Amino acid sequence: MNIGEGPPPYVRGTFQQTCGFCGCVFRVEVPGQIGHEEPKNYYCPECHKRFPVKASDSPTTTLISKRTDGLKKQYPNEPEVAPRLR
Ligand SMILES: [Zn+2]
Repeated sequence: MNIGEGPPPYVRGTFQQTCGFCGCVFRVEVPGQIGHEEPKNYYCPECHKRFPVKASDSPTTTLISKRTDGLKKQYPNEPEVAPRLR
């Protein structure tokens, strides 16, 4: 059960994103195939912040403009939770 968080947004195709952590801009290409979507992650190319997405395969990211926070630290991602824990 999710706590205070809905399912990841359904995205398919190519879009541009600004990282909310470091401010860089990058392009995300999300492969999608009807009936084959499953939870995947992609990562900010600069700070490695993890973003969930539904896709049929791992999305690819291309950096467009560098981060704007002037720092070098990486985003402290939470450890991945196993999809099925019983
Ligand atoms: Zn970032």
